[in-house]
Amino acid sequence: MNSETLSVAGHSVSPHHYINGQRVASDVLFDLHCPIDQSLLGRISEGTAAHVDAAISAAAAAFPAWSALSATERKPYLDRFAAEIGKRSEAFCQLESTDAGVLLSRMQHGVVPRAMLNLSWFAEHALTLQDQPIETAQATHIVRHDPAGVVAIITPWNAPLMLATWKLGPALAAGNTVIVKPPEWAPLTSSLLADCAHAAGLPPGVFNIVQGSGASTGAKLVSDPRLARVSFTGSVPTAKWIAQAAGANLVPCSLELGGKSPFIVLEDADIDNAAATGALMYRNAGQVCLAGTRFLVHGKVRDAFVAAMRSYVDKLNVGDPRDAATEVGPIIHPRQVERVQGFVQRALADGAELLWGGAPHPFGAQYYQPTMLTNLRQDSEIVQNEVFGPVLTLQTFDSDAELIEMANGTDYGLGGVCYGATEHATAIAQQVRTGFIWVNSFGIRDLAAPFGGIKRSGIGREGGHWSFEFFCDIKDVVVPKKPFRASFSQR
Ligand code: NAD
Repeated sequence: MNSETLSVAGHSVSPHHYINGQRVASDVLFDLHCPIDQSLLGRISEGTAAHVDAAISAAAAAFPAWSALSATERKPYLDRFAAEIGKRSEAFCQLESTDAGVLLSRMQHGVVPRAMLNLSWFAEHALTLQDQPIETAQATHIVRHDPAGVVAIITPWNAPLMLATWKLGPALAAGNTVIVKPPEWAPLTSSLLADCAHAAGLPPGVFNIVQGSGASTGAKLVSDPRLARVSFTGSVPTAKWIAQAAGANLVPCSLELGGKSPFIVLEDADIDNAAATGALMYRNAGQVCLAGTRFLVHGKVRDAFVAAMRSYVDKLNVGDPRDAATEVGPIIHPRQVERVQGFVQRALADGAELLWGGAPHPFGAQYYQPTMLTNLRQDSEIVQNEVFGPVLTLQTFDSDAELIEMANGTDYGLGGVCYGATEHATAIAQQVRTGFIWVNSFGIRDLAAPFGGIKRSGIGREGGHWSFEFFCDIKDVVVPKKPFRASFSQR
């Protein structure tokens, strides 16, 4: 391994690519800044066409041997990979808190354990893949899940470790070889994953990392015809670009995209409980794809709900994500701060009113106050578009029919939250057109359950067997039960 490393928050991490089992440095490097205090964390290698080519060639060369292993033989590699993440738990937590601004407490209690599970759970689940023959009177259909080949994994900055492992687990367990292109604003934990893969003894070429910008490195990667799959999580505009580039080679894409999910408060909701969950939508400074960002509140409980949520929001600790008491951290990049401010200013100019917030937060240059806007039309820009910052909207409704129309009245369809009497809330939840929705709860996830969006929020599902359906070529081997004799009259 190349010994040249960065020291970030007291932990060593390579700023370079990981190709064919080796660290590879670029001549061209880009600056990485900390969102908390804008300090320079280091300079990261920018992947060129040659690096992308080398990574794909290495992955293609490693594919025959890796895919020839049985799931049982691959499982120990993934279990060791997960264990190596566990050994570096503190480094993963500190690095992602420092480069992405994710709460340290969330990294420790949520993200790192989940990253480990993402690898070990899919390794275990892969053992069951080949065990489901379909028996008919005529034949046995052996339904094979064959690994697809070389897979590109592209991740966003708001959850780089969680999302890389969520895709790596099923891709590797199924027998594919991979190239990860991490987010350029938060690349450090992905780089540390390469150290884990190396220590776990993954054969060279099975797991590769190419650092770099989306427009350059990412675009070169997803345009390569040698890929078998592209698994992407990120924004809608990038997804459209990737779908076109991959589509030119007929490479299937899985696209997990943005959201504008409704947070519904029915007349019969437990208002205090709903308000406490509502305040959680500011976690990660609102940079969470699955957050309910569009509050739809029954007119009769509007004032009570606003007062209750305000009392929770007033108590939120905005600060350094590495402090245990912090609940709301920074916005990832100055460009995103500008974007968030622009949304709020345009909404106010368009007649919106502030319930709270609406200005930069004094903690630092990349901090913005938890904000709630109201007095909005359904076609207001901020009701229709994802802000991806600590800015929520609140509209009221008077009937279930009006609510459903508003809830379904955007181009997005990722998730939702619905608070109300259980039967009522469950009935409403079933009419909201999204990929998932939480009733009287938020954020309950299971690796076996499907995750993904409809409409502009994405194409495809991840989780459980849905991940394997994407990362595998499904093949039916048909073995007749009686001797077969060809005949032209047979269908
Ligand atoms: P983004 O689309 O700007 O970038 C995502 C990744 O794509 C980055 O690694 C980037 O470098 C890369 N990229 C950019 N242009 C590319 C190109 N032309 N070719 C190949 N790769 C390219 O998204 P972002 O700003 O990093 O992330 C925020 C977005 O991600 C939000 O819209 C959010 O809702 C979404 N998101 C969705 C989910 C989900 O599961 N649905 C989860 C997290 C984030």
